[in-house]
Amino acid sequence: MARDTRAKTGSAVEPAKSVAASKASPKDKALDQDFWRKPLEELTKPEWEALCDGCGRCCLVKLEDEDNGRIYFTDIACKLFDAGTCQCKDYKNRRKSVPDCVSLSMANVRKIAWLPPTCAYRLRAEGRDLEWWHYLVSGSRQTVHTAGISCKGRVGAFEDDLPFDDYPSRIVRWPGNAPKGKGRKPE
Ligand code: SF4
Ligand code: SF4
Repeated sequence: MARDTRAKTGSAVEPAKSVAASKASPKDKALDQDFWRKPLEELTKPEWEALCDGCGRCCLVKLEDEDNGRIYFTDIACKLFDAGTCQCKDYKNRRKSVPDCVSLSMANVRKIAWLPPTCAYRLRAEGRDLEWWHYLVSGSRQTVHTAGISCKGRVGAFEDDLPFDDYPSRIVRWPGNAPKGKGRKPE
């Protein structure tokens, strides 16, 4: 009854992360630190890519119940996912080995129902502010990890390591949930 949404719909993973996201910082001269407050439609390409928080939740395999369309996250990561850094290992060439990896864009950001509730693109598409742990607010790329938002330490397997029949046993709820409270904010 469950199926891999990546295989069936191509609605897989990736977002605007990696490349520009991994290089951008609040101190980049080309970026206004508060650019993220602008409507998504007004972001430049570098700003769009810098909006990703690097959590990696969207790089987890998702399963869809064919009976009702409900999406379930698993703790199985894409084969190109680096579970230590929560980045794509080969972002530039990723579609050679993961052809259904898609990039978030203005055209699809409001159509992808499974975007995690913590996702910066989803938050901004809904007109909400970024949380304290987003690096554009905190000034540190580590806070997405220390707050317990990212996939760091939570990947249970990689997609090529398991037979598909085992995927349903890896369904987890946390990627589809916002953290209780505001996440693990340091004192
Ligand atoms: S190819 Fe890279 S960006 Fe796309 S889902 Fe896999 S790890 Fe994420
Ligand atoms: S879920 Fe959103 S914020 Fe997190 S890595 Fe994916 S695109 Fe970036």
